[in-house]
Amino acid sequence: MGTTVVTGAASGIGAAARARFERDGERVIGIDLRDTDVSADLSTVDGRQSAIDSVRECAGDGIDRIVLCAGLGAHIEDLGLILSVNYFGTIALLDALLPDMAGRQGAAALLIASNSVQFAPFGDCDFVAAMLDGNEKKARELVANENGFMAYGGSKYALCCAVRRRAEAWGSEGVRLNAVAPGATKTPLLQGTIDHPLYGRGLKGLKAPLGRRAEPHEIANLIAFVQSEEASYVHGSILFVDGGNDAATRLDQF
Ligand code: NAD
Repeated sequence: MGTTVVTGAASGIGAAARARFERDGERVIGIDLRDTDVSADLSTVDGRQSAIDSVRECAGDGIDRIVLCAGLGAHIEDLGLILSVNYFGTIALLDALLPDMAGRQGAAALLIASNSVQFAPFGDCDFVAAMLDGNEKKARELVANENGFMAYGGSKYALCCAVRRRAEAWGSEGVRLNAVAPGATKTPLLQGTIDHPLYGRGLKGLKAPLGRRAEPHEIANLIAFVQSEEASYVHGSILFVDGGNDAATRLDQF
């Protein structure tokens, strides 16, 4: 057991992951806007740096694992904010904390993507290219012409690319890096999207083959496995946990 940093730890999937880690005997340092160990706004450069400084201070003798859950849904009006939290806030912590984990037994980092990465050809989008270039200002400008589903799915697609692009370098540092891609999960973020007059209708048409939405602890179960020694050869992977939605949508593409 060791120390895991969890962003978005105050709610939903992050809170379920925290509870699961603590039940397993892990020490957790939570980051969120409020109601956890470290309060920080991951949408800003200063907030990200303050989160990094604070978790290092709290951790004391080092960080073993990180799980980056903080995110905003497609219903948020400020599309640039979706990219700033979901992608740039996540990547800033991910890259900054690599040296803290490198060389530690069982070190692993995990991002939370989404099954929405399959809903559009995000690889062709200019705002996604700007995200992957690390250009937050340009990505925010370009995404203003899109809608919430595109901004959200694009931010998650870019996270998946970021995992795969880092697999070589992170592997050589001895730190496993993966993404979990959940389907619709009963959290305040999902409820916000359901309640939106336009995006709520889009979600209604999205039926998982298992015929129901996930509970947060069902996502936390996979998170706990991927971050454990049981998953010691799982690296550079995007793991769908979506009740069969990806299979049903993309059939023979994998
Ligand atoms: P949630 O709203 O319950 O939790 C998200 C957390 O992120 C909240 O506690 C919120 O305060 C925090 N957060 C938002 N903006 C922040 C900021 N600027 N700085 C710091 N923290 C901030 O939602 P959730 O569904 O548990 O989402 C967790 C992750 O799972 C997100 O990345 C989301 O995109 C992803 N996800 C969720 C679903 C779903 O259906 N719920 C599906 C796929 C992926």
